[in-house]
Amino acid sequence: MDTLIKLRSVVLSPIKEGEMLASYTSFKIGGPAKYFCIANSNDDIAKLVAMSTKLKLPYLILGSGTNILFSDAGFDGLVIKINDSKIKNKDEKLECSAGSLLSKAVGEALGSSLSGLEWAMGIPGTVGGALCNNAGAYGGDMAGSVEEVEIIRDNKVKKLSNKKCEFSYRSSVFKQDDNHDIILSVTFALKRGDKKAIKTKMDEIIAQRNQKDDKQPSAGSVFKNIKLSKEEIKEFAVKYPDMPESFTTYSTIPAAWLIERCGLKGKKIGGAMISEKHSGRIINTGDATAEDIIMLISIIKQKVRLKFNLQLMEEIQYRGF
Ligand SMILES: Cc1cc2nc3c(=O)[nH]c(=O)nc-3n(C[C@H](O)[C@H](O)[C@H](O)COP(=O)(O)OP(=O)(O)OC[C@H]3O[C@@H](n4cnc5c(N)ncnc54)[C@H](O)[C@@H]3O)c2cc1C
Repeated sequence: MDTLIKLRSVVLSPIKEGEMLASYTSFKIGGPAKYFCIANSNDDIAKLVAMSTKLKLPYLILGSGTNILFSDAGFDGLVIKINDSKIKNKDEKLECSAGSLLSKAVGEALGSSLSGLEWAMGIPGTVGGALCNNAGAYGGDMAGSVEEVEIIRDNKVKKLSNKKCEFSYRSSVFKQDDNHDIILSVTFALKRGDKKAIKTKMDEIIAQRNQKDDKQPSAGSVFKNIKLSKEEIKEFAVKYPDMPESFTTYSTIPAAWLIERCGLKGKKIGGAMISEKHSGRIINTGDATAEDIIMLISIIKQKVRLKFNLQLMEEIQYRGF
């Protein structure tokens, strides 16, 4: 039996060959997946992963593809797009399937007057993808909101506490290269609050987000902000006295500020351009290839290194390279 027949033998969901990944990412970039399946249940995901492992076929779980750059050559394995989106609301907890949109969880929290997910207002993508990246904004992140997660590890279903997720800035145990866990569900621990106050906070956040969003295909912030020690930030402030005070408060230099100070705003390579509204983002102006994005990233890193002696690190993940 060939690989396709074996994969088809374990699930009812259709398995396609050569599906273009560009349609499944917010960058709108990416070549074909050798095999592609939209899995509607955790059971299907578990079966596909078990079969791929048996066949030694590389596999990848895809949420909404808002933090991934696929190569122009695509992915030489099975891409499993997760499509399970159940949310259970119990007392002050929300248990969300990994494929649920984070925005749906935010809406559910608001509807039930639960506070604790306001920071996530406007972040695209699924709860599983957010967990993997420890997504965060406006002072909150997954690390501060998650109580427990359910995963498949070594073909067994397990529960992990928040601590075992090993969260760090825009990362978690699930983002490590050698991690093959499948996130099945995420439980948020929230607090009963005042619906009007929760809504006001969310409205404020979305208004701020709209100001810097140029509504063009992108993967959000390409780079992580740079955390410095108290001593390093003091030295930096001496060299750049016009830097905002908030950098010292949080001991963090935003990647967007560094890029803008290198005069790179609006810089274009092929169809890839550094956003005019938010220098931390690269947008696809229409016909960008993964290669265009990679070249632009490389120029940004080099310029920032030369000007500031600081090394930018990607927040986005490369797949299929
Ligand atoms: C306009 C825009 C604004 C953004 N703003 C923010 C922001 O403010 N803050 C922020 O942190 N991020 C932001 N992002 C980035 C992105 O939206 C988040 O990181 C998001 O949480 C990723 O979710 P996703 O479903 O798209 O993940 P994907 O991009 O599909 O996947 C990300 C990673 O998670 C893995 N993964 C996904 N689901 C599972 C699963 N079930 N099991 C195992 N692994 C899994 C994937 O394999 C991949 O490694 C923004 C992106 C865009 C386009």
